[in-house]
Amino acid sequence: MAACLALVLSAPAAASLGGPKLNVCIARAERGMAAPALFARPDRFDCAHDQRSFGSGDFWVLSQPIPPGRFDVIRMSSVFQDRVTLHILYADGTIRTLGFTSATTGRYLKMGAAIQLPIPRASTPPVRLLWHVEGAGNQRGIVLGPVVGTHRRDDQVELMLAGFYGVLIGGIAALLIYNLALVAALRQGFQISYCLLLGCIIGYALSTSGILTQIMPAIDNNSRLRLNWVLLGGSAAMVLVFARSFFERRVFAGWLGHAANGVIAALFLSSWTAALLSPWHAIALDRAMTCSFVALMLLVPAVLVRAWRVRSDYLWVFAIAWGAPIVFAGMRIAQAMGLIGWHFWLDQSTILSMAVEALLSGIGIAYRLRLLQHQRDEAREREMLARALADADPLTGLLNRRAFLHRAIGRQRPQLLVLADLDHFKVINETIGHDGGDEVLRSFARTLADAVPEDALVARIGGEEFAVVVDAATGLDVDALLHALRGARMPFDMMVTTSIGSCTGPLLRETDWKDLYRQADRALYAAKAAGRDRARDAASLSMAA
Ligand code: GH3
Ligand code: MG
Ligand code: MG
Repeated sequence: MAACLALVLSAPAAASLGGPKLNVCIARAERGMAAPALFARPDRFDCAHDQRSFGSGDFWVLSQPIPPGRFDVIRMSSVFQDRVTLHILYADGTIRTLGFTSATTGRYLKMGAAIQLPIPRASTPPVRLLWHVEGAGNQRGIVLGPVVGTHRRDDQVELMLAGFYGVLIGGIAALLIYNLALVAALRQGFQISYCLLLGCIIGYALSTSGILTQIMPAIDNNSRLRLNWVLLGGSAAMVLVFARSFFERRVFAGWLGHAANGVIAALFLSSWTAALLSPWHAIALDRAMTCSFVALMLLVPAVLVRAWRVRSDYLWVFAIAWGAPIVFAGMRIAQAMGLIGWHFWLDQSTILSMAVEALLSGIGIAYRLRLLQHQRDEAREREMLARALADADPLTGLLNRRAFLHRAIGRQRPQLLVLADLDHFKVINETIGHDGGDEVLRSFARTLADAVPEDALVARIGGEEFAVVVDAATGLDVDALLHALRGARMPFDMMVTTSIGSCTGPLLRETDWKDLYRQADRALYAAKAAGRDRARDAASLSMAA
């Protein structure tokens, strides 16, 4: 798409057919009118009024005399019409006639949806053209922008337009495929509306460029134009739908949301009625469609101002994405007012601004996904923190009983369970108070956690009772532990001792735990009974027994 924009900037007006543009005059068709007589009576044609002021219907259209030169094709914009018969007057007075209907337009429709007819070779040059147009909708004109030119020039135009549309449609299609893949992964509402927007733009580009007709030459040209309107209205409406789903809810709160709904409805309604009813009240319905587009243009600044006032994160994305269509629309209005001349690229501005809009919205989506990723990472961190808090004993930060059992039970290899119970803790509490006792527990927990192997589970499973589970193969030096606890820094430099009971065994199931705990507790009781500040193991107890 960058290449496409470079093309725009580097090739000003290159794609026009190059030959002279012909002015035309109009006469409403009446009974008995025939080409030879009309060629002889240019004064019967109205050259003063704009084509569109004639409304819908059947017309004769006479060109100005063709300037001297060698021309072999005549090209004009495709418009809504049922049948066109072209009469070519040659210098020697002969008249050749050719024509097409809406159903056979496909044979003559070129890239950029221009209709191109061959000017038959004759011994003398063509001097004037006369069209008989039946069933003209006249939404944009009866015979629009007729130009005569040569085949050679025509091939260059085709090639350039094919490249232009190819890059454009290919780029948007790539965006569509990429985002469709993301929809499945991220399930964000705005991506669905973005994909629909891209689908409408691709459809419109295929239809308006004439590529659709190249693929299906049998398509009726009036049907193609109806499709154009529906897809153009749909694209414009989807721009708003996408913005609604993308911006924060607060941006479209209140009247702006209602206005946006109104504009979306107007765009859909006006394009569908124009498409379905044309040529019935063609000009009025076309005007209604224009009005809905003007309403969209008016809504855009209102949305941007609101986004700025509520400090939306996405203001800049939309300001840039919508900037291009606004600039192009402004240039088109300037062109309509005669301030700047006709320019090929200006003629392609609808599809160009759609492409810019699609691309920049894509960048907006990438930015949005980044924010989403941030949010998800943060949520995951919070969740991990919460889980850690739920698993921890609030006083010491060691595992609590529930988390400890959850992790300990199910360990595959034999485990060593060590129970440590502070000696005479009731006395400590009585001596230095309950808060002092808490401080002793914290200090004890720190020392215990530091003294065990890394893969050991350490928990506070009761008031002043702690448990360690470690692979029996790794083991634990209980005497070193007793020594470390004895030497731990305590409030008032108190000497705090502990008694330890241990037991080794399987820890696969809940029943294993009960068994292991009962035996370790017996060993602990034995250590207490033997005078405290010592360790006993269940195995040595049973041997002693
Ligand atoms: P022994 O040597 O036989 O274990 O004697 P002990 O006094 O340590 O044992 P006992 O089980 O009779 O008393 C434990 C005391 O621990 C009783 C209780 O008030 C105290 N305790 C339990 N939880 C906490 C706590 O969270 N903070 C404080 N400061 N004291 C606690
Ligand atoms: Mg105790
Ligand atoms: Mg106790």
